[in-house]
Amino acid sequence: MRRIGLLGGMSWESSATYYRLLNEETRSRLGGLHSADCVLRSVDFAGIEALQRAGAWDDLGDLLAAEARGLEAGGAELLVLCTNTMHKVAAQLEAATSITLVHIADATAEAVRAAGLTRVGLLATAYTMEQAFYVDRLRDRHGLDVLVPGAPDRAEVHRIIYDELCVGVIDDASRDSYRAVMARLVDRGAEAILLGCTEIGLLVGDGDATVPLFDTTEIHARRAVDLALEP
Ligand code: GLU
Repeated sequence: MRRIGLLGGMSWESSATYYRLLNEETRSRLGGLHSADCVLRSVDFAGIEALQRAGAWDDLGDLLAAEARGLEAGGAELLVLCTNTMHKVAAQLEAATSITLVHIADATAEAVRAAGLTRVGLLATAYTMEQAFYVDRLRDRHGLDVLVPGAPDRAEVHRIIYDELCVGVIDDASRDSYRAVMARLVDRGAEAILLGCTEIGLLVGDGDATVPLFDTTEIHARRAVDLALEP
């Protein structure tokens, strides 16, 4: 089994989900007392969020690259960055270490294609929905047609992630907002919805939309276990 290095804390609410999923998935595949061989580096999200808001992506890249090197020194053979948004600096992490980065957008896009779908709606932070690093990768590398919500919906989806989900608040009114945003994406032709932020699965799940949901956290964790157990 290869050792998985989790770079998390962004936020820890979703890192806890990753840790559980990696262990459940490993046990269900290997049976008995098997569990994931992993190391977790969990950062203080307050500092990360402030740098995001300041647009200091190069500093964030340097900071996370140093943390990735620490995971490599701790024996990690696979790198799992437990946030979609910070995949903006994925290339910096890949350049800083020699371990394989399990890219969350690639894993998710491959799951969508495997289901025979191409037109997806994306719910995520404003950074992920509005900047090129994520949407362009889904389009250019995987041929997905990506619909993002309109501006007021994007602002509300983003607000709920940072003000609620990342601080452990799960609110029924916010679930209703997400349902309405997803319904509008389906009306525009989305065949599936990508939960493109690792905390969104804490708020909505199957049954909250009329099309399949692709939860990046679940898909990413499963892909990491696939690779960790590869002969
Ligand atoms: N976990 C989130 C994501 O998947 C948002 C927090 C962050 O900015 O890293 O994008």
